[in-house]
Amino acid sequence: MDVAALVEGIREGRRAQVARAITLVESTAPRHREAARELLTTLAEGTDASAPLATRVGISGVPGVGKSTFIESLGTQLVEAGHRVGVLAVDPSSVRTGGSVLGDKTRMATLSTHPGAFIRPSPSAGTLGGVARATAQAMTVLEAAGFDVVLVETVGVGQSEVTVAGMVDTFLFLTLARTGDQLQGIKKGILEIADVIAVNKADPEDPAREMEARGAARELAGALRLVRGHAEWAPPVVTCSGLTGARVDEVWEQIGTHREHLGHAGLARKRAEQQLDFTWALVRDELDQRLRHHPGVRAVQAEVRAAVLGGDLTAPLAADRLLAAYDEG
Ligand code: GDP
Repeated sequence: MDVAALVEGIREGRRAQVARAITLVESTAPRHREAARELLTTLAEGTDASAPLATRVGISGVPGVGKSTFIESLGTQLVEAGHRVGVLAVDPSSVRTGGSVLGDKTRMATLSTHPGAFIRPSPSAGTLGGVARATAQAMTVLEAAGFDVVLVETVGVGQSEVTVAGMVDTFLFLTLARTGDQLQGIKKGILEIADVIAVNKADPEDPAREMEARGAARELAGALRLVRGHAEWAPPVVTCSGLTGARVDEVWEQIGTHREHLGHAGLARKRAEQQLDFTWALVRDELDQRLRHHPGVRAVQAEVRAAVLGGDLTAPLAADRLLAAYDEG
């Protein structure tokens, strides 16, 4: 593996090298991890600290809300305005099912053929922690290659939204027109981490639907005030139509406003804190893996399981047994 050549290719923004580098950082093989570390260190050393930071945006919402259609629309508008746009995904469902909820890149048909865009489907690296690690590193590669906007798409599976919120500057939540009781269906946690909310599928061609979306946006804004109180940043709730592209630019403006609100120092601080949180998340994930694969733990696992299921062992005692097996080496 010629890391120096790879770095040079990335710096020149060559797609083949960018793709190879992302494959490298996604790999869990020990010799690849070693090369990936070298690659990322070299990239970090060569980064101009005074250069403007890329805009990192997380985009979430339930399957069918229109995430990929929205990204196709927004991404196309951005590349046409001269931006270089990378699209990454965090889809832990692909780990379990082998198929992914987010699907593949062919969904963003126009954007994927644009020379200013680079779309990469979610890695399927074993765990959410593994996927997050790979995605965060892919983001570094894309930014070193000159992509100034990185969009990270995710579905609301388990902790994936929180994980993505922890690696982006601005978190955009897409939802559909819901009112009253339906609002309850929105995971409360998401309202706590969203920086911008857009009620999607408000097509101008369908005035009734558009009106419904506006009403829903107002209700949602009200609900948000209850959840977030008088926090410094009140997430704007806007409407848009990813399919027609209507008011997608307004969503982008709101993302810009959120960035301005953070300011340069605020953004730098947010990123630094994210790095620290991510460090511990990676350590926890690694420890979890070690625990699962530990020979001593595996040796007593079946017995402990049977004892707990049979009512012969309480959970705290069972946990002690497993931890003792782990500590014994
Ligand atoms: P995802 O699962 O969140 O990525 O959703 P998709 O982007 O695949 O969209 C799901 C379906 O909703 C597709 O049939 C889209 O054509 C449709 N859709 C997406 N955005 C809009 C929109 O703004 N208006 C309308 N009417 N349909 C949309």
